[in-house]
Amino acid sequence: MFTPWGEALIHSWYQQTLARLSHLPNVRKVTIQTNLSCSLDWIEQANPDCLALWATFHPEWSTLDRFVEKCEILLDRGIRFSVGVVGFPQFREAIATLRQRLPQNVYLWINAVKAELPQLAAEDRAFFQSLDPLYELNTQHYFSLGKSCRAGASVISVDGEGNIRRCHFIKEAIGNLYDPAFESVLFERPCTNETCHCHIGYVHLDELELEKVFGSGILERVPIAYQ
Ligand code: SF4
Repeated sequence: MFTPWGEALIHSWYQQTLARLSHLPNVRKVTIQTNLSCSLDWIEQANPDCLALWATFHPEWSTLDRFVEKCEILLDRGIRFSVGVVGFPQFREAIATLRQRLPQNVYLWINAVKAELPQLAAEDRAFFQSLDPLYELNTQHYFSLGKSCRAGASVISVDGEGNIRRCHFIKEAIGNLYDPAFESVLFERPCTNETCHCHIGYVHLDELELEKVFGSGILERVPIAYQ
């Protein structure tokens, strides 16, 4: 899963890389966070059984028509994707319209703005939950210190230099992907952070058992119920 700074898919080299990775026999899933602002012509070269997208709609930067049009291309090409929107109350109308325009089998998730939750009106919170059945799951800071987490064992974060970290949230490197013996650093260890509050982290916390909710869609954030 690529988690780029900024939008990566506007660059042809990211498009080609994703398409190539999706055909490798040892790659089960390749996915990327994107705002779908790019051309989707390259999708034709990708393997739809392997490529998946984590798409986000930004009502302040894109139009609904343009975004939905891109989603329709993905649906036509058989690419699995989820759609996310930041849970600001001022986006309610745009989010409701987006939900109406997407087929029901496309998962629309609301990214909870944790810093603003104490001020969020109960009605807004209920609205977000009514559209995203997993919204409340994303409103938590999960106590993770000392808890067992797959990050560092079956899940790792790798930067451009090959440095391996357990996850995005623990800065200490545990090895390097270019070390021939890199697999020796992959083992279960307790979390060293107090809490974990981002989907790409807490979905790997063993005690939450979220693999039972997301199954093979855990990277692109597509729950089993929508697969
Ligand atoms: S619980 Fe979160 S912060 Fe802790 S190791 Fe797992 S992903 Fe990283």
